[in-house]
Amino acid sequence: MSDHPVVDANAASEEKKKSLNFIELMIEEDLKNGKNNGRVHTRFPPEPNGYLHIGHAKSICLNFGLAEKYNGKTNLRFDDTNPSTEDTEYVDSIMEDVRWLGFQWDKEPYYASDYFDTLHEYAIRLIENGKAYVCHLTQEEASANRGTPNKPGIESPYRYRSVEENLELFRKMRNGELPEGTCTLRAKIDMASPNMHLRDPAMYRIKFAHHHRTGDKWCIYPMYDFAHGQSDYVEGITHSICTLEFEVHRPLYDWFVENIGLTGDRPYQTEFARLNLSYTVMSKRKLLQLVNEKIVTGWDDPRMPTICGYRRRGYTPESIRMFADKIGVAKRENLIDVSLLEHCIREDLNKKANRALAVLNPLKMVITNYPEGQTEELEAINNPEDENAGTRMVPFSREVYIERDDFMEDPPKKFFRLAPGREVRLRYAYFIKCNDVIKDNDGNIVALHCTYDPESKGGKSPDGRSVKATIHWVSAEHAVKAEVRLYDRLFVSPNPDDAEEGKDFKSNLNPDSLKLVTGLLEPSLLKATPGEKYQFERIGYFCADKDFTPEKPVFNRTVSLKDTWAKVSGQM
Ligand code: ATP
Ligand code: MG
Repeated sequence: MSDHPVVDANAASEEKKKSLNFIELMIEEDLKNGKNNGRVHTRFPPEPNGYLHIGHAKSICLNFGLAEKYNGKTNLRFDDTNPSTEDTEYVDSIMEDVRWLGFQWDKEPYYASDYFDTLHEYAIRLIENGKAYVCHLTQEEASANRGTPNKPGIESPYRYRSVEENLELFRKMRNGELPEGTCTLRAKIDMASPNMHLRDPAMYRIKFAHHHRTGDKWCIYPMYDFAHGQSDYVEGITHSICTLEFEVHRPLYDWFVENIGLTGDRPYQTEFARLNLSYTVMSKRKLLQLVNEKIVTGWDDPRMPTICGYRRRGYTPESIRMFADKIGVAKRENLIDVSLLEHCIREDLNKKANRALAVLNPLKMVITNYPEGQTEELEAINNPEDENAGTRMVPFSREVYIERDDFMEDPPKKFFRLAPGREVRLRYAYFIKCNDVIKDNDGNIVALHCTYDPESKGGKSPDGRSVKATIHWVSAEHAVKAEVRLYDRLFVSPNPDDAEEGKDFKSNLNPDSLKLVTGLLEPSLLKATPGEKYQFERIGYFCADKDFTPEKPVFNRTVSLKDTWAKVSGQM
């Protein structure tokens, strides 16, 4: 009996362990063993050569999330070792996006370029120890000599240069005395290693390029692999978390740390599976292509999987964090269904977004027994999920617009909405009954003539009789026009990169990813502010575009109401 509490404590700790992911388990183990004096310090290290996408968001949530959980810190570090593709526009957007997601990095952002001097010293140290050499092979010769995973490479004829000669040549490289492409500095490791990354990888190349931060100070730039691990070391990063493709680079990073002779706390790398999303391309190169070829309007086009694209589309930081949380972290690559992300934004906006009435494909309805010239204000609930959201007044008059799809002249059995002779509820307004269908000479329906029951004000049944449907509407006289952008998925194929022979991912573009319509909206929507989100009742979630003005109102569809994820996963 007396040992019950112990059993319970164990069970509780087992329970806790089960819900931890493999990185959290590792960190808890490190903390238990007093590694790094109990410090947890992570970093998010983007290369400023594009805008952040939803895959980066996963990495951001993971790195900042771990620091939050274990009372640690997270650095934002720009891995800016490649001057030709980098730009301050990207630096600024990355900071904005990380902040928008709700995270704050430790101190100022860091830059790998801050360590160019230190890295240069490390390189000299390796040369002095006989661990690096200047190689005059051309790039083609060097890659031809690398061999294959099953065939050892051939050692460079320059591999056994003296330390003095190497120091002298490296000095010349650094001083701009040698033209671009003539030589590189390489680590002297093992040309026969089964790990290709250890076959004397390049550490420095000559590049007469202007750098966005260091200007023209340098004409040699460190390779990413030489900069990455050492930057982590300099910053005191304890847990270097990165995606799986870097697993094979890890021995090289360890080799640098050991052979440069870095002492004290050092970083250890752990890899997780990158996020792949269905119906989405994620590579920055491809996203840049979409922008450059004007297939989308820019990095923040609401169809782009970029953070700024999602923001403009109407996604919230909370929805993206919820998504990151739900997908978790894994050790094996997989493809996440994009409908899960759409599910997350619906969940979030359902609680937050005020409801509004909007008709996107209008059909006129004349309420023949409603007094001409009369207008009344009807009370509408802003958000049934949030009692603090209150109510608003919506104008009603003799002529209204309803959604064309909500009427059928000859309805099939399962159609319960409006039809000749049938009564339905106009949301927050009245019961109405359809008496006549008005057509033009070609037989197209142009209007409906209906009568209303004055006793059913507010949409309440006067006598207990019920109607099978409630439809939305706007008053014709009061409705305001807006451009409504109906966005859909950018690709038609779940895996856009899987293209037919001879074609590329662009062959899988969805020709209907954007449809423009003129919506008729309840007038209160003119008070929207850019970025404000609404649920257009029965249609979907919409967000006032960043360029929204009352003179030129524009709404973007964030997502429709139909939750395919809930269906797939059997929830709800
Ligand atoms: P891309 O392959 O899209 O060009 P990248 O990996 O080159 O992206 P970086 O700027 O180097 O982009 O990435 C910064 C960080 O974000 C890295 O730590 C990287 O591991 C992580 N990251 C990039 N893409 C994903 C993804 N799809 N899922 C999870 N993490 C990612
Ligand atoms: Mg990268």
